[in-house]
Amino acid sequence: MDTWLLSRMQELRDLQGLIGLATWDQETYLPAKAGPARAHQLSTLQGLHHERLVHPRLGEALAKAATQDDLSEDERAMVRVLSREREREVRVPSALVKALSEAQSRSLHAWREARKERRFALFQPALGRLLELRREQADAYGHGGERYDALLEGHEPGMRVERLTPVLAALREQLIPMVGKLAAARRTVPRLFDGRRYDRDAQWAFTVRLLKDIGFDLEAGRQDVSIHPFTGGTHPLDVRLTTHLDESNPLSAIFSTIHEAGHGLYEQGFALEHFRTPLAAAPSMGLHESQSRLWENIVGRSRPFWEHYFPGLRAAFPDALAGVDVEGFHAAVNEVSPSLIRIESDELTYNLHIALRYELELLLVRDELPLSDLPAAWNARMEKYLGIVPPDDTRGVLQDIHWAWGELGYFPTYSLGNLYAASLYRAAERALPDLQGHLRRGELLPLRDWLRANVHSQGFRLPAEELVRGVTGKGLTDADFLAYLREKYGALYGVTL
Ligand SMILES: [Zn+2]
Repeated sequence: MDTWLLSRMQELRDLQGLIGLATWDQETYLPAKAGPARAHQLSTLQGLHHERLVHPRLGEALAKAATQDDLSEDERAMVRVLSREREREVRVPSALVKALSEAQSRSLHAWREARKERRFALFQPALGRLLELRREQADAYGHGGERYDALLEGHEPGMRVERLTPVLAALREQLIPMVGKLAAARRTVPRLFDGRRYDRDAQWAFTVRLLKDIGFDLEAGRQDVSIHPFTGGTHPLDVRLTTHLDESNPLSAIFSTIHEAGHGLYEQGFALEHFRTPLAAAPSMGLHESQSRLWENIVGRSRPFWEHYFPGLRAAFPDALAGVDVEGFHAAVNEVSPSLIRIESDELTYNLHIALRYELELLLVRDELPLSDLPAAWNARMEKYLGIVPPDDTRGVLQDIHWAWGELGYFPTYSLGNLYAASLYRAAERALPDLQGHLRRGELLPLRDWLRANVHSQGFRLPAEELVRGVTGKGLTDADFLAYLREKYGALYGVTL
């Protein structure tokens, strides 16, 4: 490839890395008074990135490279990925970018105020303005008649409403009766958090042990503390994870660390030859999320995993966990019960929270649901899918920041993550016949290495579903996820699902 084009690609990645560093710092160590200064710095860096990306000379170089027949397979993929990203950026007029950013700030503010008052009506005008602008943006991106597709494309390239809707609807229809059966099955689960104290230092030490065992390279990344755990960083050799420590509940730290480590392993697993190119990236948010959910839920909430780790956990918290055994602990971390709040929900009901959000935001983008009806539509679906109704808007339609930020087309990637995770894990079980034994002995590296070889090192060579099909033999399906849930929860609850 043309050296000028390659160096532009590298420069863009370096700028993204610095944006990542400044953002990570903002969420972890930034002094309280530095907020406005950091906002300016980030906006300057983002402006530079935008200018470089939309520069006509880059467009010409990409167009020329696309017609060259002496490029390698990887180089062709780099040109394809960057052209797509550039094309989207070019299509949105700068006046719209500015209007969106102002509407986002106003909307976030209105959302916070509305949450305090527990009244959606206070948020409605700001959300309405943001929605209008997002529709305008979708039209600027271009679509074949379904605006939502253009927004979904920003998070899940290649996925379409036409493909996604039937899969999520079928999953929803299977899950509703399963959740009903599990909620009705009586089970005694130890109460681990009633007034018990879990030492913060011991929690931290336990999460660091998990990071090491899972194969997260602490010389090519680090873990810190933040209110909302996330994965960021600057480069595959500089991956930043955060976790959250809560003295009354160690599960927050444990499962946040495992979840973010799943994301972190993906970032550390990109191929050396892709560093500083557009290929050192996951092809979709859903596939990225599949890695965090595979580790957090399928591995991290499994019986073999805790057979290995529970003795160490009990030793770390001898008072709080006195009298609790591995069976009780395993049951406690796999409780299924309908709840109002998405981020507190279990791995089954989680997908019903997503189905509800996906259906509603699709209606909103299509302009088929008046905004004033949104809270009632939310509550009606909560009742239908989960059998509970939020007592106020803060515990209902106002609970997530996504819409307040104008993020539409993001929610379904969480369920896609669950579906891809289950299919990939099935494939891993076929490739590693003693996988259960490995987990029982605390050997997590065979699974990490399999994921690295089959998923992480592929980077953005292929769209997500194509990559998954290559590894598992099938594309997006709910079959593996449902089979996994039936087997696991059927055994745990002693019922046939
Ligand atoms: Zn995640």
